[in-house]
Amino acid sequence: MSFSLENIIRENVKGLKPYSSARDEYVSDGSEMVFLDANENPFENGVNRYPDPQQRSLKTVLAEQKGVEVENILVGNGSDEVLDLLFRAFCEPKEDSIITLPPTYGMYKVLAGINAIENQEVLLTKDFQPDTAKILEKVNGGTKIIFICSPNNPTGNSFSETKIVQILNSFNGLVVIDEAYIDFAAKESWVSRLRDFPNLIVTQTLSKAYGMAGIRLGICIASKEIIAVLNKIKPPYNVNGLTQLKALERLSATTTVTQEVTNILAERNTLIQALREVSFVKKVYPTDANFVLAWVDDADKRYNQLLNRGIVIRNRSTQPLCENTLRFTVGTPEENKKLIEVLKDCNDE
Ligand SMILES: *Cc1c(COP(=O)(O)O)cnc(C)c1O
Repeated sequence: MSFSLENIIRENVKGLKPYSSARDEYVSDGSEMVFLDANENPFENGVNRYPDPQQRSLKTVLAEQKGVEVENILVGNGSDEVLDLLFRAFCEPKEDSIITLPPTYGMYKVLAGINAIENQEVLLTKDFQPDTAKILEKVNGGTKIIFICSPNNPTGNSFSETKIVQILNSFNGLVVIDEAYIDFAAKESWVSRLRDFPNLIVTQTLSKAYGMAGIRLGICIASKEIIAVLNKIKPPYNVNGLTQLKALERLSATTTVTQEVTNILAERNTLIQALREVSFVKKVYPTDANFVLAWVDDADKRYNQLLNRGIVIRNRSTQPLCENTLRFTVGTPEENKKLIEVLKDCNDE
């Protein structure tokens, strides 16, 4: 196989020169300077200055923790922005296509629609694994990206390593592995395999295990060449100053994050056990994430029962292969206790 990044980049992006902001042109070396270059209000209030457009401090810490170099990282306003940048860099509107593997995260399809890119869907197998043969059959000249979500939302399981390697090796376009839930998984991140696969892109987020959904920070890790393309098209100040500050704080609180994840994993086990004892639950699917998918007798009925008792979960029944399934996010021990009590209550109705 021969993957060539040049063949994947959109023509208009190849020729682009990125906007050069004031904060790009002069980089502070820490000495006291008078900044009169960006038309900012000079009176200090904590956010009167533009943030670092290259997010150097943040990316330095991320690089160290992820075992890559700063040039392998792009950060964005949530994974959603990172994913959108991938479409805009590599997919020609009304010409190119992507492949997604439903049931999966809904944003890939939405972003394809927004960017006028055809979304070719190849259902997962019955045990929620990629159907490698069918995926590779679907690939044509215009297929630019295959989106793989592992651990997968909403099913919760991780995909077989062999199958992913097969796709990476046989497809000449980009393979995006969305690892939003990787910190809850027993499996290692695909970041460690970047050197083996020039077409691999890994996305992660601070929204789940790191408990920072409110600040919007998405992470893209890939070859330096791929990241350089994305850097050309990203808005200069796409990650605001408060987000950079909060993210840095949280990334240095590794013990707290690890403890919370451990806690969530223990609660996940408790929830799985409890769900197995509920008579209207027909099956609890294996999960590597901070949620559990369960197959029930009547998803609409059970969803409404819980809602009436003040508990909001996700009914995933409209997704293919997910008829009569409910998705439960693992909450605090108190929240889970309440959920389990309510489930037992519903059992009798
Ligand atoms: C929650 C989630 C994300 C996170 O998106 P953000 O924009 O970073 O909050 C990404 N991918 C999947 C599959 C998710 O479930």
